[in-house]
Amino acid sequence: MDLGIRGRTALVTAASKGLGRGCAEALAQAGVDLVICARGEEALAATAGDLAARYGVRVTPVVADITDEAARARVLQAAGAVDILVTNAGGPPPGVWTDWTREDFLRAIDGNMLTPIALMQALVPGMMARGWGRVVNITSGSVKAPIDVLGLSNTARTGLTGFVAGTARQVAGKGVAINNLLPGIHATDRAVALDQGVSAKTGKTVEEAKRMREASIPAGRYGTAAEFGAACAFLCSAHAGFIIGQNILVDGGAINLTM
Ligand code: NAP
Repeated sequence: MDLGIRGRTALVTAASKGLGRGCAEALAQAGVDLVICARGEEALAATAGDLAARYGVRVTPVVADITDEAARARVLQAAGAVDILVTNAGGPPPGVWTDWTREDFLRAIDGNMLTPIALMQALVPGMMARGWGRVVNITSGSVKAPIDVLGLSNTARTGLTGFVAGTARQVAGKGVAINNLLPGIHATDRAVALDQGVSAKTGKTVEEAKRMREASIPAGRYGTAAEFGAACAFLCSAHAGFIIGQNILVDGGAINLTM
């Protein structure tokens, strides 16, 4: 399918690896010029070079912690008037609900709620003025069903979800579609870190912990960044303008819901 976005421009944050990279790659494949960011320079430069060489699009890497206000301003400066925004940042650390201090909550809310909101506030007005835009926020299945060790994620991402639910319906009339994409377990560095957490908690090996988590997914496996990216690119496509304010699970059926 031609996604109808060749020649458009996108900002994908936290995109040197994992799900962010998967989204950036699927957009590059669709002919979209990119601005991408991450904190580590080496992996970011490698990703930018690889995507530009393979898909013939322009890829501008900006080394930046997207949760830092000054760094975010540099990213936005490089992005300019983009048509597509994919928001992403690292997830909060796992733990137990009694562990977390006010500072831990503020860090999680800053990274996984206020940062994507700030990016939307900066870029959506321009999209509205031009009459076309797409925003996909990478959130988590934890907004549909809480994950016990990820209480910080449950909290911060649900706040973002509420913001998007209200805002998406206020901007849709100007041709801007905002949606959230909710990953279940995907085979990225983050998944390995969480496998290690389960291993430490249960005394199982990391491989056993992974098999145990895979067995909890009806599809019987972890997702891939490529298939997550393809779903993201569709939501950014010309065909997705009537999908507004939705929370779309990409989780292999892991969350047992009727709707
Ligand atoms: P990942 O494999 O660890 O990749 C994270 C990417 O984001 C890297 O490129 C990293 O590069 C960059 N990054 C992290 N923090 C950043 C920051 N503050 N500023 C700029 N770049 C940053 O993670 P992932 O698995 O793709 O997960 C992406 C998001 O989805 C996370 O929020 C995660 O919690 C959520 N999620 C993931 C899963 C899963 O199973 N993978 C499931 C549910 C939710 P640098 O480290 O160099 O900055």
